[in-house]
Amino acid sequence: MCLRPGRTANLARSSTDHQHFRRPPPVWRAEGPQALHSGAVPARPDPSPAAPVPRQRAAADHRPQVDPDCAGCPQLALLRTLRRAGVPAAGRLSCEPGRWPFLAETELGRSRLLVSAGPDEPDPGTAALAGPGAVERLDPGDPAALEAAVARALARPGTTWLVAVARCVIGLPRAAPLRVVEARCNRCGACLSLACPAIRDEGGEAMSIDGAVCTGCSRCAPLCRGSALAATGSQRPPQG
Ligand code: SF4
Ligand code: SF4
Repeated sequence: MCLRPGRTANLARSSTDHQHFRRPPPVWRAEGPQALHSGAVPARPDPSPAAPVPRQRAAADHRPQVDPDCAGCPQLALLRTLRRAGVPAAGRLSCEPGRWPFLAETELGRSRLLVSAGPDEPDPGTAALAGPGAVERLDPGDPAALEAAVARALARPGTTWLVAVARCVIGLPRAAPLRVVEARCNRCGACLSLACPAIRDEGGEAMSIDGAVCTGCSRCAPLCRGSALAATGSQRPPQG
């Protein structure tokens, strides 16, 4: 596998025309969810006479900003983790058969990180492409575990292959949508970093969740240190 320092890998071109690249040391991007690591719940800002300026939710590689079918994607937390670590996610998500079988591949010094996102457990052919190295299986919906695993992989010499398998949720039954408990939301923006199309900042006192879009997956809930993302209790028919 050839190395071309300074060039960004295009993992989506073909399974034979690929290359990984060396990258500068990772600088974890805050993107709002510092609360995930910093401990204390951010205080509610002082009331201001000016209305809050609406913020854009984060954009995730592969995922549309507005497609309701893609709300609750099980790979949102994985994409968020890679984005925050500065790792391009140009390969295959679970809903994208035929693409390069790794979602991400990058190098840092003597460390090489590979990420597989499914939809199934990797087959022997994919394992052969990965080559020898440590394999770590992760829940793609666990942001804290994902961040720790990526940091470990980029600090460990040799190849680390993170396997975070999850299937697309389109067509699966949908749970009750979540809602934002306005009194508990301090507009920290951490939930926007997930890039879920159901979460919006409309410039009010709190974020909002579009109940017609939300799949009720609860993947946003761990990002909110104020426990402002809560279940509504109403059930809905299957999606798709
Ligand atoms: S529960 Fe949260 S992450 Fe899941 S679809 Fe609803 S708003 Fe998005
Ligand atoms: S819902 Fe939670 S994570 Fe989202 S802005 Fe409000 S306090 Fe922050």
